[in-house]
This record gives sequence, C-alpha cells and structure tokens, in this order.
Amino acid sequence: MRIRHAVSAVVLTAAFAFAAPALASPGSDLLDRIAVDFVRMTLEAGEREPGYVDAYYGPEEYQRAAKLAPRPVSVLRNEADRLRMLLAKVPDKDLDADQRRRKTFLKGQIRAAQTRLAMMAGDKFSFQDEAEGLFGVRPVLKPLKRYDPILAKIERIVPGKGDLAARVDAFQNRYVIPTDKVEAVMQAGIAACKAKTEEHIKLPAGERFDLEFVTKKPWSGYNWYKGGAHSVIQINTDLPIYISRALDLGCHEGYPGHHVLNALLEEKLTKGKGWVEFSVYPLFSPQSFIAEGSANFGIELAFPGEAKTAFERDKLYALAGLDPKTAKAYGELQAAKAALASASNTIAADYLAGKMTKEQAVRALMKYSLYSRGGAEKRVAFIETYRSYVINYNIGQDMVRDHVYRAGKSEAARWAAMERVISEPTTPADLRR
Ligand SMILES: [Zn+2]
Repeated sequence: MRIRHAVSAVVLTAAFAFAAPALASPGSDLLDRIAVDFVRMTLEAGEREPGYVDAYYGPEEYQRAAKLAPRPVSVLRNEADRLRMLLAKVPDKDLDADQRRRKTFLKGQIRAAQTRLAMMAGDKFSFQDEAEGLFGVRPVLKPLKRYDPILAKIERIVPGKGDLAARVDAFQNRYVIPTDKVEAVMQAGIAACKAKTEEHIKLPAGERFDLEFVTKKPWSGYNWYKGGAHSVIQINTDLPIYISRALDLGCHEGYPGHHVLNALLEEKLTKGKGWVEFSVYPLFSPQSFIAEGSANFGIELAFPGEAKTAFERDKLYALAGLDPKTAKAYGELQAAKAALASASNTIAADYLAGKMTKEQAVRALMKYSLYSRGGAEKRVAFIETYRSYVINYNIGQDMVRDHVYRAGKSEAARWAAMERVISEPTTPADLRR
C-alpha cells in the first residue's frame, strides 16, 4: 500500500475504523507514518546542525533525500509541531500496551526536536527549561555550598596543606596509565565489562566494536553506533587516562552501556518490531537521558561496591605497571568523588546563564568537581558544546539506579530490570516507576 501523506492520515484512519472495525490497529499504522516523517525530519535537522544526529542506520533513501534537499529550520519547526499534533490525535484505545509506550516515547522525541529546532532558530531557554524540553527531566539545581560537606570528607581522604583540588590532582597523577599501556588496559577493561554483561544479557549475534584513540575532542570517550550491532568506541587521549577509566569506559561506552543499548534497540525494536524511529538517534533527546544514565549506572551494576576496586587491583594495576597495594586508597577517593557529580549541573547552569565567567566556571569545577585545571577547561568546553546535556550523566544515573533497585535485591532481578531499560522504548517517566 502506498504511504499516504500524513496530513490526511487522521481522516483516513477514522474512515478505515468506521468502514472496517475488524482492522486491528489503525493507530499502529498512523504511528508508523508519524515515525517515518519523524526520521526524515530528524535527518534533515542533522543537515542543519552537525551533531544533531548521533547515529543512523535506517533506510538509505531517507538519508539521501535529507542530504539532497534539507528543509530550512523554520519549516522543520512547523513539521515538528505537525507531528506532535498528529501524534496527539492517535487514540490510545486504538493501541495495545506496547504501542502506547511507543507513542509516549515518540512524544518525548518530538518535543525534544521542537526544543532543539527552536534553539537552532535562536530561541533562548533557561537551563532547566532547556533540559526539560530536550531530555524530559527538569533538573533540581543545588547551591554549590551544599557540596561543602562532601569536600570536607574528601579532605580527610587526601590530607595535607594547601588547595584540595591540587592535592587530589597530585594524588590521582600516581594512577595514570602510561601511554604505551593504555590500549592493553582499556581492552582488558572492556573485555571484563563484556564478560560480566554476558552473564546476564544475551547479546545480539555478531555484535562487535572497534577501539580508536583520538585527540582534540571535548569528551573523554564516545560510542559511535554504526548499525548491524557494530560500534566504534573512541577514547580521547588529550588528558592523562587514570586506571579507573578502563572499567568506567568499558562499561559506559561498551557493555552494558551505549554499545549494548544501541544493539538491543536495533535488534528488538528497529528490526523486531519494525519501529523505524529507533534507527535514528537524535543526540538532544530523552533517548540520551536513558543512554547516559544507564551507561553510568552500568558501571556499578557490573562492578558493585568493592568489586570495581578489587578487579582493578587484581587485574588491571599490573597491566598498567601500577602498584596494586595502593588500589584501596584510590578506590575510596573515587567513591567519595561520586557524590560531587551533580555539582557540574549547577556550574553549567550558572556559566551558560552568564552568572559565571569562563575562568570562574573553571575554578568552580576545580573546587567542586575536583578537576585539574586541564580537566576543568575540558569540562567547560564540553558544557559549551553540549550545554544541559550534562544532567543526563548524573540525574540519569540516579534515576536508573533507583528504578533498577526497586526491581529487587538479587543480581538477576537487577540485570533483568536493566535489560528492560536498555531494550524497550524507555522514557524518563518510566524510570520513576
Ligand atoms: Zn555516554
């Protein structure tokens, strides 16, 4: 059947429903059509803003068409508005439970497109409005002084005179992986994350990744999903790479993080259900909230409590030429620093609102996130590029953790809940359940 233009779809669906009530899911047909238009719109927006599309492995003809004649941003904004209205007209009673989740997911993705396209047209939002529009979560921003008690605790872990950030930096510098050992340590870290994930999740057949080392990027690691269960994982070597990064990055970018999430969505939704909207991944969307939150939580799911430091001590320190006897102290510091994660939301919000200069933001990140100057400058570059995206890492992680922990205390129950998060049309609202 020829796909009709979506504007007339509501009328047609109603006519079908009236004339042929036996037709099981007129709502599903309409969702299919909205999904195709959403993919086309997203790809065209990607032609208007580099980085808008994080991954695409859907029909090539859509990509070709988008490249050939991308509509201007003003027209794409109208298209996003039209899709949102059309989606609202799909009656829930015409959808089964699965399709209702699909509709809710699409609603969040379309709202994100409306927000991002508005930003591309020059509209300005507050940090919280921007985050809510793009990622479906309104962040609570804590005043920085609320992090002072955590800093006081870290003072006791890294005692000494002078500035805490400088002391932490000097301490951590003893845990840098030497350049010639980075690849072996990273490969071992990723392999361990994969082994742990495979105990609980059946990975798609033939899944694989390539590891690349790059420089001059605002991020420390990136997973580029290519489709066909294949990822390219890039590691930025601009800054020293600490021993903790092997499992952090292996789990976050790889297993059970981004690579697995994308591979499962492709297998179960894009191919399994024919839901074409999952073949495109708009970076500034609730999908990123789920992806970053689950990728960060995946580290502690795979290596809970002391398990991470124990694995690093027993397997990775020797590979990196570091002294395993010092692993415990480093592990304690990393655990204590985790409670500072959301400080960067507040700093990002203040900096982007012009309440802090660049230098003030760098200094605040050194003080409250305990970055080195180089690390803080890199973080400011990240904030300038990705803006409110920063909330996805820490608020996302907290919400995925709470959700998964509610599933039960056993490892099996928690991994099963995690698998659902990364293989279904999960929205931030789902995580509150
Ligand atoms: Zn990530």
